[in-house]
Amino acid sequence: MTYLKRAWAETHLDRIKTNVENYKKFLNPETELLCVVKANCYGNGDDAIVPYLENELGIKWFAVSNIEEAKHLRDIGISGEILILGYTPPEYAKELIDYDIIQALTDESHAKELSKYTPNDKRVRAHCALDTGMTRIGVCENTAEKACDTVERISRFKGIQLEGIFTHFASADSDNEDDINYTKMQAEKIVSIAESLKKRLVSLNEIHFLNSAGGIYHSNGKSTLARLGIIMYGLKPNSALDVPFTLKPVLDFKASVSMVKDVESGVFVSYGRTYETSKPTKIATIPVGYADGYPRFLSNKGEVLIHGQRAKIIGRVCMDQIMCDVTGIDVKVGDTATLIGTDGEETITADDIADIGNTIGYEIICNISKRVPRVVYNNGQQIGILKY
Ligand SMILES: *Cc1c(COP(=O)(O)O)cnc(C)c1O
Repeated sequence: MTYLKRAWAETHLDRIKTNVENYKKFLNPETELLCVVKANCYGNGDDAIVPYLENELGIKWFAVSNIEEAKHLRDIGISGEILILGYTPPEYAKELIDYDIIQALTDESHAKELSKYTPNDKRVRAHCALDTGMTRIGVCENTAEKACDTVERISRFKGIQLEGIFTHFASADSDNEDDINYTKMQAEKIVSIAESLKKRLVSLNEIHFLNSAGGIYHSNGKSTLARLGIIMYGLKPNSALDVPFTLKPVLDFKASVSMVKDVESGVFVSYGRTYETSKPTKIATIPVGYADGYPRFLSNKGEVLIHGQRAKIIGRVCMDQIMCDVTGIDVKVGDTATLIGTDGEETITADDIADIGNTIGYEIICNISKRVPRVVYNNGQQIGILKY
């Protein structure tokens, strides 16, 4: 099992286990875990992670963003429930049935079209999305009464087997009072709709509204599933708000130094000459760049770890290479630079990088490109490599 030691990511399965176990403690016993594994497990490598979740951790529910991701999970042997959280065009009704996939319904017309495309005497398994304040997808009515009417009609479409309803929080990851009240309002809406539907004898197996942040800050036994995403991958839903246990970031991002040199004061570095040395400087070149998903906004701002020490990125991040100031560090070609992860006493997280670029850790890990192999570890042992 070899790979080019240029730039690579390391995915640590044992850290997923720790994150999942810690998270579970916050859930009511009636809430089951649904692992959100969309977008290649947020860039962490679904081919390794999803079988681990199913076979080693006993997870029964998975969610993805689209039908290609859902079919991929079946193709690699996943047998648990798979829920597609986003829109699927109605022409795919038969494939949803053939692959035994549960589809989110974006609204009544989506349900009607899917039903129309469903082969006679077959039904698409579905969870109806309810828009309670995210204004993204979901049945969107101004009263709970009307929302119930719509869901009830959907439940009677001949090609639809309605098994659940769900909604998505807009700001569960905030400690601002207005946001907290907004989240409570969203939860109350879906719970009251679920209760009315029950009175109308529309039977539902699943009613769910918790995401990672919801499960920690708004845990509620009325959600039958908790849709766990970012916390499973070891990042905070909101970097400014502490999670009440130690998260283990699952993915490390590393690269090997390709050149080391000493330059004089007054030398310009990288495109646009945005950096000029002000003293004799030792520079390391590292073959990773924005084509690998290493953000260009780190130009003159980011740091990497080499031999347990921080080295500043100098000049612009190129497509495939960066330069770092390694003055005073004993660096040679082939040494490992840690872009995300821990080296000695020092750590750089995806959240640290996100803060520099005014974005979120989710985007940083999702953007690590398919040019970067994911080297899979469990308990410190290398057990596989995912190449794309
Ligand atoms: C992505 C997603 C999640 C997971 O969100 P996290 O913040 O990563 O836990 C849950 N539910 C829906 C509908 C999603 O789209």
